[in-house]
Amino acid sequence: MSDDHSSLHSFETRAIHAGNTADPLTGAVVPPIYQVSTYKQDGVGGLRGGYEYSRSANPTRTALEENLAAIEGGRRGLAFASGLAAEDALLRTVLHPGAHVVIPNDAYGGTFRLFAKVVQRWGVDFSVADTSDPAAVRAAVNDRTKVIWVETPSNPLLGITDIAAVAGVARSAGAKLVVDNTFASPYLQQPISLGADVVVHSLTKYMGGHSDVVGGALIAADAELGEELAYHQNAMGAVAGPFDAWLVLRGIKTLPVRMDRHSENAERVAEMLTRHPKVTQVLYPGLPEHPGHEVAAKQMKSFGGMVSFRVAGGEEAAVAVCDRAKLFTLGESLGGVESLIEHPGRMTHASVAGSALEVPGDLVRLSVGIEAVDDLLADLKQALG
Ligand SMILES: *Cc1c(COP(=O)(O)O)cnc(C)c1O
Repeated sequence: MSDDHSSLHSFETRAIHAGNTADPLTGAVVPPIYQVSTYKQDGVGGLRGGYEYSRSANPTRTALEENLAAIEGGRRGLAFASGLAAEDALLRTVLHPGAHVVIPNDAYGGTFRLFAKVVQRWGVDFSVADTSDPAAVRAAVNDRTKVIWVETPSNPLLGITDIAAVAGVARSAGAKLVVDNTFASPYLQQPISLGADVVVHSLTKYMGGHSDVVGGALIAADAELGEELAYHQNAMGAVAGPFDAWLVLRGIKTLPVRMDRHSENAERVAEMLTRHPKVTQVLYPGLPEHPGHEVAAKQMKSFGGMVSFRVAGGEEAAVAVCDRAKLFTLGESLGGVESLIEHPGRMTHASVAGSALEVPGDLVRLSVGIEAVDDLLADLKQALG
């Protein structure tokens, strides 16, 4: 299923065509769901196209993995059962006991939990840094630092990290720069072109885009690290199944048009919230007053669909806004076509309560969908009361 869409075409074209070569047997224009575990061999060791067993490789997953590498501008893409499965495979590939990692002070809650409750038990320690300040990252590095982890925009505070500046810190420290690109998606931001060694995704979010699949990905900038990651993907086994891979491949075809609308709608929502008397602060990198606005404008195509805001009246008032929303569905996750609202302190980020990553109780997070924006604005106004 190889193709040459990786560098010849623009992003929108690659999103639709890379990995999506017509089925050689039937000409089907969409890669079939190869719902199969094993493959007939033409004599012992006579594999057709290298397929032997679907943990090691499956044609539907290969199509997605080629697409992922092409749209992130990396040499190797790998698809996993979830974003956290991808992160786990990455960390167990590049770390060893005694290693040190720098993680952001507003990392995704599940990423923090993976470091604090799982990875740390295997003799890896970490420092928490404000990655929006490259000097703070440099100060957190020591001679055992193997990985600098960045999430930009971050979850749920929408902090912005200058990827190129932190890539410079990582290079001089001899550490790998990992960028969780889930919030931006490769359409809005290309971390590998800015110096990242590995891009991480929760495919569950914008890449799948329809709230119907859980998946994760790693994209390696260089082939050698890509090969090591592929070895561990097979050795550890948390691969994406064929149907899940097919759903994500389908979602990616419309990623550019969805992201354009997510960004447009979120900008309108953020503007309305800044003028609302019940809102004390709006966190959106598209707003000129956001501390990361200039860096975001430099490294992102537009500012994405995630908006957080703080409500006058504290935690109970924030929870009440979430409860009163009707069109915004109360729920965790993000990045689907439908708008979601949640209270990070009690929902997605409950696992970081009491840590350096604790989020304010008056915070509400929105995943702004692609519905008609006037309907979204009306719902938020009634929810704010
Ligand atoms: C959801 C998410 C993850 C974890 O991905 P799963 O698919 O839920 O395992 C990692 N990072 C970010 C930024 C996320 O939003």
